Amino acid sequence: MQIKDTDLKATAVAKAQATNSLQNIALTLLSNVAIAVSLALLLYLEDGGTLIFWWLAAAVAFALFRAWRVLAMKSSGLRESDPHRLLRFLTAMAFASGLLWSVVPLCFGAFLTQQALYCVVFIMAGTTTGAIIQSLAYSSTAIAFGTPLMGATLLRMLMSGSGVSYIIAADVVFLTLMLFRAAILGERNFIASQITAFEATDLAGSLAEANREVLSSNRALEQLVRTDPLTGLANRSHFRDVADAACRSGQGVAFVLFDIDNFKTINDTLGHDAGDRVLAEVADVLRSACQVDDLPVRLGGDEFIVVLQGSAVAARSAAFAEQLTRALSLPLTIAGQPQSISCSIGIAVHLEGDIAVDDLCARADAALYRAKEDGRARTRVFDEQMQTEFALQRRLDLDLPQALARGELHLEFQPQVTMATREVIGFEALLRWRHPSEGMIPPPDIVRAAFRLRLSNKLTAFVAERACAFVRALDASRTPRVKVAVNVSPREFSTHSPARILKDAAERYGVDPRRIEIEITEETMFDPKRCADELRLIHDYGFGLAVDDFGVGHSSIANLLAVELDTIKIDRSFIHDLPASCRNQQLVMAIAAVALPLGHRIIAEGVETEEEARALRSLGCIYGQGWLYGRPMAESDAIAWLARGSDGEAVAVAVSAA
Ligand code: C2E
Ligand code: CA
Ligand code: CA
Repeated sequence: MQIKDTDLKATAVAKAQATNSLQNIALTLLSNVAIAVSLALLLYLEDGGTLIFWWLAAAVAFALFRAWRVLAMKSSGLRESDPHRLLRFLTAMAFASGLLWSVVPLCFGAFLTQQALYCVVFIMAGTTTGAIIQSLAYSSTAIAFGTPLMGATLLRMLMSGSGVSYIIAADVVFLTLMLFRAAILGERNFIASQITAFEATDLAGSLAEANREVLSSNRALEQLVRTDPLTGLANRSHFRDVADAACRSGQGVAFVLFDIDNFKTINDTLGHDAGDRVLAEVADVLRSACQVDDLPVRLGGDEFIVVLQGSAVAARSAAFAEQLTRALSLPLTIAGQPQSISCSIGIAVHLEGDIAVDDLCARADAALYRAKEDGRARTRVFDEQMQTEFALQRRLDLDLPQALARGELHLEFQPQVTMATREVIGFEALLRWRHPSEGMIPPPDIVRAAFRLRLSNKLTAFVAERACAFVRALDASRTPRVKVAVNVSPREFSTHSPARILKDAAERYGVDPRRIEIEITEETMFDPKRCADELRLIHDYGFGLAVDDFGVGHSSIANLLAVELDTIKIDRSFIHDLPASCRNQQLVMAIAAVALPLGHRIIAEGVETEEEARALRSLGCIYGQGWLYGRPMAESDAIAWLARGSDGEAVAVAVSAA
């Protein structure tokens, strides 16, 4: 119970007093009747008068009337609604009863012997004492009852005129005052104890409430710390806790990892608010696809993951991915426009035993990577083949830092020629790593591992260094001053500036930047807008710029117009069956028609046969690179090869056999 102010406290105390009074009243009335009977008997035996029985009848009737009224009061709920009124009523009843009892000493006393009168005084004092003992919670009823009764007794004693009576009268006064004082003190104690009890309850109540508040703000804080504010989904830290427990449970667990295809384009074209709306909508779709035990999480950006648990996770994760793909294929309304989105999903399932969260995450990541590589908007499940590739990937991740530090990597140089004359115009620097146990590692794998390990800058610095050293070695051998092309991935642009790294190396080696051409190589889309700053630097420092693998779809003709290019390299895949493929011939012709008037050089990659070279030349392509002219060679071999004069197939074959 909360007692807030004095009024409320007074009412609560009155209620307690009323309760106590009502509890005691039955006994009070009963003893009242018993004493009245004994008093009537005493007086009857004393003088044989029967008038006293009329008084007895009145006293019993009034006691019954009080009992009836009290019962009615109890059931009326007055104790709760107005305890003060109830107490006033009880006081009035007690006073009326006191008046009735005062009749005995006043009216019957005159006919009694002195001795009988003393008995009456004794009974009256006893009755009053009894009333006081019964009313320790509320003194007014006892005082209201005792005052007329003791007053009448005192009066009768004074009226009797004897000396003994006066002494007894004095005792009666003293006794009455003591009794009333006891009644008042008793009530005070009762009130004090009640207030202490209320305050204790009050304190306990406030403590409980404070406790509840602390608990609820703790919960709110915890919720905040575990939730992504934009989507309301669990965040990365909550994911870690749940995923950790799931991965250690030894039972089935699956991670369904996905991100929204081309989310950056949505952000760039429709604005960040629209991007946020898309994320919130995706979160809603995700939530409705989840069952109670599944945990949907936003890891950050447009990356989401769902943790599924139980023995049927393999089937459930596949069904889940299907459901998600279907739900997301329905257009969303973003910024008032219907917006179609798709997502790429990677699933990793682990059925038995413990597994580290990071391992399962890496598997889901590998599957997602594969889904994107396969053209996005699809689901890939981590499988055995990925497992093998994944194991290799981990091996490379472990070994690359040391290999780089120990200089275990090297470059090979492949000539680029004027196809008609076989005159060498440059070399392309290609990365090589012969791994002690895994053999030759494909360069794109090295590049990806470096990116994962945030070592791309070191790798590029190594390539820049070796390429510049090669230029210096070429010059020292008095061979023609040809260019050297180095490959650079635009993915690096977000972490460092390859142009700056190359500039540093060129300065250190005293190499003219115009001798270096930077080939922008990328398996994903090459977006000149996002690369603009870096491309400008390349241009400003004086390096040449080439777009690699042209035609495979990532670079577009529009890009050619947007960028200050020197060279376009037509991808190997168009060259291979060029003599037979009309489509590829048309493509080469189209590239030549756009590029040549803009002053761009075209180099055909992967030229293996004379027919390919002839076809290329007839389509307007002048320069070529490929096994027909020369395989990638170690630095010293390339220099020797150039010094001897690039004398055709025989040289290339000899080098490749070496
Ligand atoms: P790319 O830039 O298109 O390099 C040409 C690839 O074609 C090289 O493969 C080369 O060995 C191969 N090639 C050349 N002529 C022929 C031919 O006549 N027939 C056939 N079948 N293949 C030929 P490689 O060395 O395995 O390099 C693969 C890719 O790795 C490169 O493709 C490039 O994208 C990337 N790469 C290589 N070195 C580096 C580097 O230092 N940095 C970066 N970022 N990427 C690199
Ligand atoms: Ca290249
Ligand atoms: Ca290429």
